[in-house]
Amino acid sequence: MLIELLEEYFQREEPPRERDYFYVSEVGKCPRQIFYTVKGFPRPPLDGQTARKLAVGEDAHRRIVQALYGLGIVVAAEVPIPEGALFHGRADAIVSLSGKNYVVEIKTVHPYNFDQMAIAPRRDHYLQLQLYLHYFGIPQGIILAENKATQELREFLVELDRAEVRRVLSEFERLRELIFVRGELPPLPDKSDWEYDQCKYCPFVDFCRADVAEPPRPAAALEIPREPPALPEPYEREARAIGLFDEP
Ligand code: SF4
Repeated sequence: MLIELLEEYFQREEPPRERDYFYVSEVGKCPRQIFYTVKGFPRPPLDGQTARKLAVGEDAHRRIVQALYGLGIVVAAEVPIPEGALFHGRADAIVSLSGKNYVVEIKTVHPYNFDQMAIAPRRDHYLQLQLYLHYFGIPQGIILAENKATQELREFLVELDRAEVRRVLSEFERLRELIFVRGELPPLPDKSDWEYDQCKYCPFVDFCRADVAEPPRPAAALEIPREPPALPEPYEREARAIGLFDEP
């Protein structure tokens, strides 16, 4: 009864959108998946359950940032990376503690991943924070993780790691050249250092399996007919006589 209505309410189309930059959240993602995303390949609509999960994550971010404001330690929230950078993205917050600024990256994580993060943050979270530290020129930050199931919190103090930043920037410079300049599909990635099987959740599996490198053509409605369409009498005669696009 209600479930079907709510599923329909929450599910949404994800209109493909081409772009010529990367998001910080794409660090650690499969380069092929990034290619298909930035080139505007179509993806299946977002089902209701996934949309609700995303909404829960967004609510948790808001709740935690609100609490940081309540503590009176927020210097700025939703801070964008300066324009013109290779990456776009917004840091969740910058807080001040004992006279020092920290970039805060908030993550809501699945209980399984939360358990995996007992002594160290997830590598992609670590690298994302590194980019914010680099772009904001702040030498330290905090990854604050919340268990999605229990709301337990865990935090990791992270220092700017210039060597890692250089490595990520040069990796994405190469990817920028490959994708945006040469327009080529990246080769199948080495999956050995993936923290989870990205293929399992990838919306582009079919394109990837077939090595498709060109987005499918839009609907045939955009085909331009060679001959002008025949107009019914008497419009056809009028149109020919005055010319549809004649100057007045
Ligand atoms: S199916 Fe796997 S390898 Fe292919 S684009 Fe998706 S995540 Fe990458």
